[in-house]
Amino acid sequence: MKYDSVSELCRIAEEEKVRISELVLKDQAVQMEKSEEEIKGTMRTMLKAMRASTKEGIEPGKRSSSGLSGGDAYKMQQAVEEGRTICGPVLGKALTKALSASETNACMGRVVAAPTAGSCGILPAVLMTVGEEWELDDEQLVMALFTASAVGMVIANKASISGAEGGCQAECGSASAMAAAALVELNGGTPAMVGHACAISLKSVLGLVCDPVAGLVEVPCIKRNAMGAANAFVAAELALAGIESRIPVDEVIHAMKTIGDCMLPALKETAEGGLAATPTAKKYMKQIFG
Ligand code: SF4
Repeated sequence: MKYDSVSELCRIAEEEKVRISELVLKDQAVQMEKSEEEIKGTMRTMLKAMRASTKEGIEPGKRSSSGLSGGDAYKMQQAVEEGRTICGPVLGKALTKALSASETNACMGRVVAAPTAGSCGILPAVLMTVGEEWELDDEQLVMALFTASAVGMVIANKASISGAEGGCQAECGSASAMAAAALVELNGGTPAMVGHACAISLKSVLGLVCDPVAGLVEVPCIKRNAMGAANAFVAAELALAGIESRIPVDEVIHAMKTIGDCMLPALKETAEGGLAATPTAKKYMKQIFG
């Protein structure tokens, strides 16, 4: 397979009456000339590292070396534990885990790029949360990673997964689409629903620029990971209810590319525009770099 169309992946999976993850695992084994067990073994290692990153950042006194971030995963966890959340514990736990992985990244800890380090919190947060809530075993989560990866590969091939190339829509947006796809499959949704969830999640963040304060992957990146996890839940929930995206998923991906191409360089990771150009961001920049 060429991984250049999500619709095509969905169509083949439906025709062959398999889940997208099964299709991808089989194809990857052929392409990489490895056994399916070997490939799953690599994915298990990724899953383990992802899980660790969703816990490591939960520390009250944690701060990044710039001082710009840290401690928010802990605050979110406190709110969940004390029953102070609006949307209940499932979303609260996902937000905690997304913040944790991203804060781990900001502190130079070990994360799994999914698809990038800047968006490393979204997919792990969603997977680990439903894994705990629905009592899924690692085998199920590993399979969901194949579905998420296939979506990421299509976006990388047809648009971009880089903030410097396509803005934050390409990083946090892609991560959201990957997580939404995994969620739908884990919940027993059809391949077509997977496609709609991808489309809905990506549509919702089109135009999101990459504007890291002081050029550091902390502000607004860490909180955008929490938002990206919530976006994945919303998109999956809608798709599982039978709600369809009016614009087909591959057209949404193409739209994301054209929007990224139109974005000014100042809004693509150069830290010259957007939030990075605000007076407060400039003050932080001066404080950090002199
Ligand atoms: S703002 Fe830029 S650096 Fe930060 S997560 Fe988004 S794409 Fe990555």
